[in-house]
Amino acid sequence: MAGSGEAGVAELEGKRAVRFPCYFEGTKIERASWDVGVKLDLAMCRGVRFEFYCADPGPVSHFSMYFRSGKGWYSVGFDAAASGEWTTVEIDKSAARIEGAPGGWADIDTVRISAWRGDNVNTEFFITGLSLFGADARIAVVRADSLAGDKADELKAARQYVETVGGLLDTAKVPYLVVSDIDITLERLKNVKLIILPHNPSMPDAVAEHIAAFLKAGGKMISCFSLPSRLQDAAGIRNDAFVRQERRGQFDSIRGSETPLKGAPAVTKQASWNIRNVLPVAGRSRVAAWWYNDKNESTGKAAIVVSNNTVHLTHVLLSDDRANKFRLLLAMVGNLCGDLWRDAAAGCIEQIGVFGGYENFDAACSDIKALGGNDTDVVRALKFAVQRRAEATEKLGAGEYSSAIITAEAAVKSMVDAYCLAQKPLPGEHRAFWCHSAFGVNGLTWDDAIKILADNGFTAILPNMLWGGAAFYDSDVLPVAPAVKERGDQIALCLAACKKYGVGCHVWKVNYNMGWASPEEFMARMKREGRTQREFDGTDNDRWLCPSHPANQKLEIESMVEVACKYDVDGVHFDYIRYPGPQSCFCDGCRERFEATVGRKIAEWPGDVRKDEGLGEKWLDFRREQITRVVAKVAGRLRKARPGVKISAAVFRNWPTDRDSIGQDWKIWCEKGYLDFVCPMDYTPLNSLFERMVSRQMEWVGDVPCYPGIGLSVWADKTDVVKLIEQINITRKHKTGGFTIFNYGPTESKEVLPRIGKGITRKL
Ligand SMILES: [Zn+2]
Repeated sequence: MAGSGEAGVAELEGKRAVRFPCYFEGTKIERASWDVGVKLDLAMCRGVRFEFYCADPGPVSHFSMYFRSGKGWYSVGFDAAASGEWTTVEIDKSAARIEGAPGGWADIDTVRISAWRGDNVNTEFFITGLSLFGADARIAVVRADSLAGDKADELKAARQYVETVGGLLDTAKVPYLVVSDIDITLERLKNVKLIILPHNPSMPDAVAEHIAAFLKAGGKMISCFSLPSRLQDAAGIRNDAFVRQERRGQFDSIRGSETPLKGAPAVTKQASWNIRNVLPVAGRSRVAAWWYNDKNESTGKAAIVVSNNTVHLTHVLLSDDRANKFRLLLAMVGNLCGDLWRDAAAGCIEQIGVFGGYENFDAACSDIKALGGNDTDVVRALKFAVQRRAEATEKLGAGEYSSAIITAEAAVKSMVDAYCLAQKPLPGEHRAFWCHSAFGVNGLTWDDAIKILADNGFTAILPNMLWGGAAFYDSDVLPVAPAVKERGDQIALCLAACKKYGVGCHVWKVNYNMGWASPEEFMARMKREGRTQREFDGTDNDRWLCPSHPANQKLEIESMVEVACKYDVDGVHFDYIRYPGPQSCFCDGCRERFEATVGRKIAEWPGDVRKDEGLGEKWLDFRREQITRVVAKVAGRLRKARPGVKISAAVFRNWPTDRDSIGQDWKIWCEKGYLDFVCPMDYTPLNSLFERMVSRQMEWVGDVPCYPGIGLSVWADKTDVVKLIEQINITRKHKTGGFTIFNYGPTESKEVLPRIGKGITRKL
């Protein structure tokens, strides 16, 4: 692409590789990017794997790999797993985003690699050893790519459920490939034993015919939610009605029938909101599990129906109750393909003790023992793990696969318990959770929720109590959400609990964005008054308030000041304190106000802002000034009205480019003393990337405390306490003095806090 340096062959640490130079210094390129023409069939594999080297990934915000076919692209982002050493990168098709209308993975004609600008500094990277992976797997997970285009939202859901199923299979090291539904033919399925349809709400008829033929030829299938009608006969299962829940809690758990799936848990929790009922066919299939409600009553609706070649679940597999979902999915696989069950059991045993950087069981045991200083609880947990591991191995030998998996999971859990117990708390640390719901943790009162935080050593909460056009408390500035009448003033309730248990309460506002809770009439009025955003291409963005409109700035400022003055809170917290992206805001008001700022008319709006370079710089300054003004004014007002109240912000992670793209100039906010602490949203499961971001951010914040945001709830496994502990340890290594975790919900309260509260965040 224009402005990118020429790629060439180079020798590096004994490997011949392609060198890609990234010239970001003194240039304007958004990314360094290269295309290569190819002719590749990637239909039947899980993805692409290569060796990657980058001595200094700091100037790159992220990398992407693209594959072109037909009239569109598949793209997958990736990050450098380490600096200055060769590492393996896997580009997983299950994570691919779709642009345009690609014609399947079988006819890839171009591969593109891009390094996106993260800083105005040059760097380079190297790639070698490109290959496919997962091509020999016998399980094929089918992604509903045929939804691309007018059903983009459904495709997003389909992608998510492919990742949920894939994540569970990965836990047992069960190999699988990912195939796009538009690539499926009977011929391509010839080495596949089992196909999984995680969420395929529609399917081209020709594809369904190929799958029906696959089943008739002895293939097996796990299908979820939608059973394509052309597959009913081959599967021996009949479609019935769609059933929407009549109330929350109607579908609460999946429980085995009198003829259950061998090895499935007796009860698997799953909070589904609708199902597609199916009926067994006499002599062909049976109900293996029923839906129960939250009062432990059977709903009389089938959850799982099984035939000789198909296991069908009447909703998608959600990620709640992960431990039982894992057993349930492996039981589905195992009941159809016994040898895959054996492989899964062996995989589970192999995985015991392989976590947190430990390469094997023995290394994990000795290190955790040393870390815990021979603490009796740690030693007991390790001993339990050793015993369970031996039992699991015995059961595997005896062919008791389901039981071997359960026992191996008990060993894994006990190893992680030992690891959690062996961690040490750091006195004086700021430990906070964001809580996205204004009503706290579903199923808990504010009192319960805050007590759990305090008991497990947390010192602060950031509850989301207000949006661009909604307040969940008694506000005189913003429309008050109707739910406040029924459920009370949420700031008052949360704050009372915080005072009782000694937890800091920093009320979080989603700025500018009116979100889901703002009343329709309020949003309509904002639009009528010219206060909502318009994008570069003329599209209206009715949900976002225009940041340059003086009345909007006043609303943002007054609402933040109101919270701090009306309630004895410890702080107020900005979020979405930015533009949505470079395409905003080009409304008529922005034009007028920008013209007044530069002191002349813009002939062609908005095109000239991008065409004229001098104007472009002024435009970016103008945007930054709008956002910064609100932060500065809130700080100015509160320093006088409420001295001691803390002002903080959740910000994007890469200040040098984010100040241009979204107008968020948070380094200035630190320098000018507007903020008392800042929480960059460093949401990545990759520890090396997390560490690189934290180390750079510590330079940008100067003397202002930086409590990095850890993205626990957006990871594939939101109960991953091991990774959470690793990232907390990274914040300690960089002496941040604290951290902020996203997000406080039911799973986090039940499965995460009690475990970290025993060690790394233990209350002293
Ligand atoms: Zn505007």
